Amino acid sequence: MTVADTGTVYDVTILGGGMGGYVAAIRATQLGMRVALVEEAKLGGTCLHWGCIPTKALLESASLLARLRRAKEYGITTGEIGFDYPAWAKRRDSVVNQLFRGVEGLMRKNKIDVVRGRGTLLAPGKIGITGDTGEREVSSRNILVTTGSAPRSLRGIEIDGTRVITSDQAVISDRVPASVAIIGAGAIGVEFATLYHTVGVNVTLIEALPRMVPLEDADVSTELQRSFESRGIKVHVDTRVEKVETTGAGVRLTTKKGDATETIEAELLLMAVGRAPRVDNIGLEAAGVQVTPQRTIAVDHAMRTTAEHIYAAGDVIGGYLLAHVASHEGILAIEHMAGKHVEPIMYDAVPRCTYSFPQIASMGLSEEQATERGISPKVARFPFRANGRALIHGEPEGFVKVVSDASSGSLLGMHIIGVEATELIAEASLARLFQADAWEIGATIHPHPTLSEALGEAALGIDGMTIHA
Ligand code: NAD
Repeated sequence: MTVADTGTVYDVTILGGGMGGYVAAIRATQLGMRVALVEEAKLGGTCLHWGCIPTKALLESASLLARLRRAKEYGITTGEIGFDYPAWAKRRDSVVNQLFRGVEGLMRKNKIDVVRGRGTLLAPGKIGITGDTGEREVSSRNILVTTGSAPRSLRGIEIDGTRVITSDQAVISDRVPASVAIIGAGAIGVEFATLYHTVGVNVTLIEALPRMVPLEDADVSTELQRSFESRGIKVHVDTRVEKVETTGAGVRLTTKKGDATETIEAELLLMAVGRAPRVDNIGLEAAGVQVTPQRTIAVDHAMRTTAEHIYAAGDVIGGYLLAHVASHEGILAIEHMAGKHVEPIMYDAVPRCTYSFPQIASMGLSEEQATERGISPKVARFPFRANGRALIHGEPEGFVKVVSDASSGSLLGMHIIGVEATELIAEASLARLFQADAWEIGATIHPHPTLSEALGEAALGIDGMTIHA
């Protein structure tokens, strides 16, 4: 890998080589900028090494296992179906490594100077880098901070890495416990609950709020809880964890729901209560970059921080902590630096995907959020059990829900729970970007027989025109 030569003044130096940072670096070179990308660990960041890619690789093995167990339904005879979790872990690593080599290759191809080490803002236009080969300084006209986020815990609960862990330890582990308690039924909680339950782990999920995946539409939360419980995953919502003790065999949790106290024992406790932006010890204060009370970097619509020529993007600015959002924000920051006109990111069109069984995918406003914003919502739902392709798949669970503005007819949100939901949601994002009305999704000719027809049918339902339900 190329090493930055001292004395060079870069057009932009990017702090952090995750999806936010490395994608921004590529766009910068496309625009003719001289770029340094500072990374203390491995290019690819959380998404490639600790999040999206390794977890979905494991969930793919789990999905195939779950399907194979139903082989008889499809008229397929098999011997005994078993699994080898360490082999899943090997496959996970080979997918990650292949993509990692790809990212490194992209850096070489785009002539990006990758600087190994920990970067700190020293002064306007100056970044200090501490690495294996000592300390150095880089000069740069602009800086982009894409330092990401790290798992957080709850006060009084110590992550010991063996009995009390975060997704960082769970994702790289080559073994699974006999039982697990998971605190937090957000994306990480429900994805690991899915993975562990599929391989026979006794799973208990504990969520403080009254419903699972509380950021999703309430109908989706209800359907997910019904599905999880019907498969034997224990779900405690509206439940607070009062105490966590480690025992010889694992952990003992004392929980409280209303006035009722309960004790939950498990071999392992997975903390899945969110992630904290990485804003500490990178010199933000020294450089005049304002950090909000929520410990995120404050930015404007162009990703500019409060310090001139310093931008920030991705998890470190808060909002949706999603890799695809980070890369779009990073690109926008670079384009602004390059003097291009930029349009603010349409956060209401961001697709959000959770790879639980069943999958969840959503875009835009939920029914409640629309009401909160003073919009009168009109909604329609189409069940996958009325969709031919879902029956062919053997996955009739779930539905597509469309949220529209009752007065204008415009599409506000789409919420999918069920088979391949994550592959279907992109259509809704495109529709929102084009400011489509719900009827326009209904009027779109969807191929038959496909799952995508469920989106069209749900949209037709806004005007009471659904055909197959
Ligand atoms: P999250 O914010 O999605 O969910 C955390 C959950 O923990 C919430 O439901 C919250 O109510 C609950 N919680 C918080 N404190 C609690 C307490 N004391 N007791 C019980 N429950 C409590 O966070 P996450 O699942 O840890 O994921 C972190 C980030 O990573 C999220 O922003 C998420 O979007 C992202 N992520 C995305 C994906 C994906 O896109 N598939 C997958 C994993 C993570």
